Amino acid sequence: MTYRATKIVATLGPASSDPGLLEQMIRAGVNVVRLNFSHGKADDHVERARLVREAGARAGREVAIMADLQGPKIRVGKFADGKVLLQPGASFVLDAARAGPGDVHGVGLDYKELPRDVRPGDTLLLNDGLIVLTVDAVRGEAVHTTVKVGGELSNNKGINKQGGGLTAPALTAKDMEDIKTAMALRADYVAVSFPKNATDMEMARQLCNVAGAEWGHKPQLIAKIERAEAIPRLAEILAASDGIMVARGDLAVEVGNATVPALQKKMITMARQADKLVITATQMMESMITNPVPTRAEVSDVANAVLDGTDAVMLSAETAAGKYPLETVREMAAICQAAEDHDPAELDADFSGATFQRIDQSIAMGALFTAYHLGAKAIVALTDSGSTALWMSRHRVRIPIYALTPKIGTQRKLALYRNVRPLLMDTSALRDEALMQAENYLKAQGVVEAGDVYAITCGEPMGAPGGTNMLKICRVS
Ligand code: PGA
Ligand code: MN
Repeated sequence: MTYRATKIVATLGPASSDPGLLEQMIRAGVNVVRLNFSHGKADDHVERARLVREAGARAGREVAIMADLQGPKIRVGKFADGKVLLQPGASFVLDAARAGPGDVHGVGLDYKELPRDVRPGDTLLLNDGLIVLTVDAVRGEAVHTTVKVGGELSNNKGINKQGGGLTAPALTAKDMEDIKTAMALRADYVAVSFPKNATDMEMARQLCNVAGAEWGHKPQLIAKIERAEAIPRLAEILAASDGIMVARGDLAVEVGNATVPALQKKMITMARQADKLVITATQMMESMITNPVPTRAEVSDVANAVLDGTDAVMLSAETAAGKYPLETVREMAAICQAAEDHDPAELDADFSGATFQRIDQSIAMGALFTAYHLGAKAIVALTDSGSTALWMSRHRVRIPIYALTPKIGTQRKLALYRNVRPLLMDTSALRDEALMQAENYLKAQGVVEAGDVYAITCGEPMGAPGGTNMLKICRVS
């Protein structure tokens, strides 16, 4: 049986909000839908979330919903003519005090703190790095610069500082409001933009938990790694988060394009070793915004992220605003699957020197090890919180992990975990009954047939969270 272990995150937008199309995209392989809170109003997001739940139900798949917060807007203001053309060598003033519209000599700032964050000699990158300015002087609220690399600059384009160092807090007043919306629509994941440290993530988690308390809802938190400052603090950010996003768009502007591929590998490895999730994002299939097929380079980029060990690959404008959202998902799914066929299983190396203190974790690792060496067809984890499935999924084996859970929230969050296929099943039944139900399911799905071996983990007594303490190796009769 062939299957895809790497998950696909697709951003919803005008190009993908048709209910029929969304259902097809989910059938084609979308596991997680991203709602981008940089665009649209609260009501739009609530409506889109409803569309996602309905389309998932029609497709017979539970998808996770990820609310991606906008974060600080570090942007220039508007121009009288909507845009200007900056010539190399020209002077250009970024002025926080400027109230009127901008022109070719200067522009106002959405981000009023900029004059405090820069000093002469700094390099500012505008519009995703397409325009480069060198800071000559800061006088009061005005940042005087010389254009190093010119081009067209239009209204509200983003500003990055090379090497990082902009002080804007990760969570804005708008983000705090958006968190309430995200909890009202029961977002399974909340992605935090531009966190600098663990405190930013802890703050976001508190806000989510408070806003979600009304419904007893606690989302998983994803830290978008897109600031230079976040790199040396990756370990502490991971510890405070449930996962990270390799947010290559903004990250590349701050640290330089060339550094990003190596950082991606490092981040993916660190996340997995810390038992955390990782999403690789931005421009993965960029040319498919306008073309029906990807470039060779894009195919290689997606395949490499899979071989790096990412849990998921993400689509942004490709599905939100592109011409070929469904084709893009199909292509991406095919690339993931083909790359996985060459994914090395490295289980023994993973275990050498490893120690486990927890009973449930030891059982999870025991199941993985045994299944791998016996050539089992499947691993089944009866899980309440999903942690057994998380531990198993941090290692590279080409054996599908079926996570059976009685909780819809657990089923949805597991949609992002690499190599995990979440299923809703009432596992509160008597143990033997639940185990039989699980085997019948695997048989009905064609995962196992007579003679096949599979491993199954559960807790005794059944249904107690954190109680996994049994491993059974079964041969299908
Ligand atoms: P964004 O984040 O698309 O919300 O900017 C991803 C990135 O910066 O890569
Ligand atoms: Mn970004």
